[in-house]
Amino acid sequence: MYDFIIIGGGILGMSTAMQLQRAYPDSRMLLLEKESAPAQHQTGHNSGVIHAGVYYTPGSLKARFCLAGNQATKAFCDQQGIAYQVPGKLLVATSELEMQRMQALWQRTAANGIERHWLSAGQLREREPNIRGLGAILVPSSGIVDYAAVAAAMAGEFVRGGGEIRYGAQVEGLQENAQEVRLQTAAGEFAGRFLISCAGLMADRVVRMLGIDPGFSICPFRGEYFRLPAKHNRIVNHLIYPIPDPSMPFLGVHLTRMIDGSVTVGPNAVLAFKREGYRRRDISLADSWQMLADPGIRKVLWANLRPGLGELKNSLFKRGYLQQVRKYCPSVQLDDLEPYPAGVRAQAVSDDGRLIDDFLFRHSRRSLHVCNAPSPAATSALPIGAHIVDQLSSQLLALPSFAKAKAAPSAA
Ligand SMILES: Cc1cc2nc3c(=O)[nH]c(=O)nc-3n(C[C@H](O)[C@H](O)[C@H](O)COP(=O)(O)OP(=O)(O)OC[C@H]3O[C@@H](n4cnc5c(N)ncnc54)[C@H](O)[C@@H]3O)c2cc1C
Repeated sequence: MYDFIIIGGGILGMSTAMQLQRAYPDSRMLLLEKESAPAQHQTGHNSGVIHAGVYYTPGSLKARFCLAGNQATKAFCDQQGIAYQVPGKLLVATSELEMQRMQALWQRTAANGIERHWLSAGQLREREPNIRGLGAILVPSSGIVDYAAVAAAMAGEFVRGGGEIRYGAQVEGLQENAQEVRLQTAAGEFAGRFLISCAGLMADRVVRMLGIDPGFSICPFRGEYFRLPAKHNRIVNHLIYPIPDPSMPFLGVHLTRMIDGSVTVGPNAVLAFKREGYRRRDISLADSWQMLADPGIRKVLWANLRPGLGELKNSLFKRGYLQQVRKYCPSVQLDDLEPYPAGVRAQAVSDDGRLIDDFLFRHSRRSLHVCNAPSPAATSALPIGAHIVDQLSSQLLALPSFAKAKAAPSAA
């Protein structure tokens, strides 16, 4: 019998496992991951940006955890010797409407306690000769890192502290009773006193395995990227972001300097017909049916039909995609857009048809589930893990079998 079992070998599962292990060093802990290595899904397919916390509603979990996570991620990388850089981010306005939206973002960054500087068109050109805009906000603390390397380092810490990881262990069934949670997996059956699930794109399915109605479903959105040829590795000095449309849940196609020195363009946000489908031709009939039969998702898709079809068109026709970048970086040409692997975002949609904005957690007596953790959850992974450990400490007090086990740890 394990004291804690964690599902998911992405950055949130690894961060939680590492911090839980530090908080309860005498406990038996197991992390189960269905793939053969960590970070095979969202954690290994993203922009690699250490966000500063610009966009998020003041006081929300996203705003708080991102601000703390920006510092915590850099400190963790320093301790672990993981490469990261802090080039800073420029949010570039290219029209009068975007200048108005930029003003609103300026207020928001103040409310979120982020250092930032207002740049005129001339100051923008001085810093970024290849970028055109009417003005920009400079956010110096935004950085870049390889989140797969961060997750792997967390896994290493967890194992060194005595934790176990089983790869190739897809969880297929769960039962919770008064004493334990039982898990049926591709690698056999396990029992734990407490379960934590950080299953990303499969978050709702794991909650349902316990017979609980989650109240939300995961809607997968593919984020497609291109990479610029190596001759453009110095095309920008900062991370270049458009001013986002506040009615849209994603940030818009940006130019990102990656930690390997290359520059990517993207990601867009296209409805994916397979939860872990990274290519346009990846379609799962089961995933698609489940998605389209979900009244909440249907409502969201209908309400966002126009922008959704626009994203699809730009995904199918590179020229449309190019226009989004050329708005602020006119020197990029069609031939510059070279292939680069896509990512798929896990976006939770409530049963009543809302894109859930903030991070979301659900509990049962013996389990805690991370239900909505889209960007900036990689940046926020350390504070999210700390939050989970904190939540658990009060939940565990109500479990007599756990209190007993702590008196005589890990005899099982
Ligand atoms: C295109 C894109 C760009 C992004 N850019 C950024 C960025 O620049 N900065 C940032 O902070 N965030 C970014 N994000 C968000 C960030 O990547 C995610 O929020 C974060 O990686 C979520 O981590 P996770 O551990 O919850 O999920 P994941 O990394 O998806 O991990 C979940 C794990 O659970 C496993 N699993 C699922 N079901 C089971 C099961 N039944 N049994 C066993 N294992 C299971 C999966 O195999 C997977 O490994 C981006 C995301 C995408 C897709």
